[in-house]
Amino acid sequence: MSTIRIVFLGTSAAVPQKDRFLSSIALQRETGEIFLFDCGEGTQYQMMRFNINFQKITKIFFSHLHGDHVFGIFGLLNTMNLMERTKELTIYGPIGTRNFFEGTMSTQENFGFKYPIDIQEIEEGLVCEDDDYRIISKRVMHSVYTVAYAFIEKDRLGRFNKEKAIELNVKQGRKWQELQKGKSVLSEDNKVIVPEMVLGPSRRGFKIVIAIDGLYVEEEFAPFAKEADVLIMEATFGDEHIANAKERMHSTARWAARIAKKADAKRLFLTHISPRFKDDNSLEMQAKEEFTEAIIAHDGLEINLNRKDLEEEK
Ligand SMILES: [Zn+2]
Ligand SMILES: [Zn+2]
Repeated sequence: MSTIRIVFLGTSAAVPQKDRFLSSIALQRETGEIFLFDCGEGTQYQMMRFNINFQKITKIFFSHLHGDHVFGIFGLLNTMNLMERTKELTIYGPIGTRNFFEGTMSTQENFGFKYPIDIQEIEEGLVCEDDDYRIISKRVMHSVYTVAYAFIEKDRLGRFNKEKAIELNVKQGRKWQELQKGKSVLSEDNKVIVPEMVLGPSRRGFKIVIAIDGLYVEEEFAPFAKEADVLIMEATFGDEHIANAKERMHSTARWAARIAKKADAKRLFLTHISPRFKDDNSLEMQAKEEFTEAIIAHDGLEINLNRKDLEEEK
């Protein structure tokens, strides 16, 4: 299994298309846990189609409350309930998210939801974290309050050097495990061995930035997306619609690609594609002129990141 699996469940802007559903992206960690970013209408169908396990979703993040990004949530919540979910689900979104839920959920009391739903209204900054990762939000320009999210794995301890541990006379077994967890131990000849003595340099994790809708100010957004392994941005428009993009506060493929370049991202995936593009080749070409590692995402596109790819760096 890959370290991180990202699946585009819906890649259309505003209205569904025959071959593009509305915005949603699933991110699966190596623990199996799934985070869902936006939940446009039809997301649960796409989850079945592309093998995303409903019950492994622990957190859902809304970029904003426009209908094309959130109207799939109630169907999904209801299905989770009918599938006997008991595990808590946390939903993060901008101010207004609680109202959005409470109105509808108050009409569903007869269903007796069997699992708790925790709604967290967020602004810019730290959204959540655990020992292995943190998620940070950044406001972007749009007609309503909208955020982008960065999923950042924390640095991991360096590789354990067995030969060094033997040389330092540390008994194999529990003490080796303690050292690998970053704890100091005593050697057989009663010397204090600190982890730095037997661990290599710390190892970086993956950074994934997801910005599904909005207009991005290059000077502000490039630092947020800096050195992302995967950068996902919207490209509702192309070069020929610059006036529309500015007026409606959306991005063009070229603008997004310039940010990817400035941010020194590894790869750029463009989503939230307007139905006006019957053929997205020209959009992809515009992006590639600025940043060669750009592609237009499609429903079902899957990205697999593997830990060993990081270890092969440099
Ligand atoms: Zn949208
Ligand atoms: Zn929107």
